[in-house]
Amino acid sequence: MNIALIAHDKKKDALVSFAQENFDLLNKHQLYATGTTGGRVIDETGLNVTRCKSGPLGGDQEIGALVANGEINAIFFFRDPLTAQPHEPDVSALLRLSDVYDVPLATNEGTAAAVLLLIDKLDRE
Ligand code: PGA
Repeated sequence: MNIALIAHDKKKDALVSFAQENFDLLNKHQLYATGTTGGRVIDETGLNVTRCKSGPLGGDQEIGALVANGEINAIFFFRDPLTAQPHEPDVSALLRLSDVYDVPLATNEGTAAAVLLLIDKLDRE
């Protein structure tokens, strides 16, 4: 399956830890990420990740375009709920597209863990 990884700056440590803890599960899938998130995941986990532009520079919209084209099966988007984001319209647009195309989108670690387990189960059936 194709999974997109995105984390706001204050959540990048959490996403990298999540990727390290779930290396074996994530390594079975094609991973996409916004630029800075992807760079950190590659450097700190060794996972193979296709990087889009950085989120504030259009990366969220690039992921959105992949969603619209049916190329993303799940999104793990660790959002920072306490900091205003300059690219909030892009973030909202991605959330909207995930609903338009019924793509599971986890906005925190607990949900991401649950979705990843389900993806793995579905993959093995
Ligand atoms: P980044 O983008 O991975 O390039 O930081 C994430 C975001 O803030 O949308």
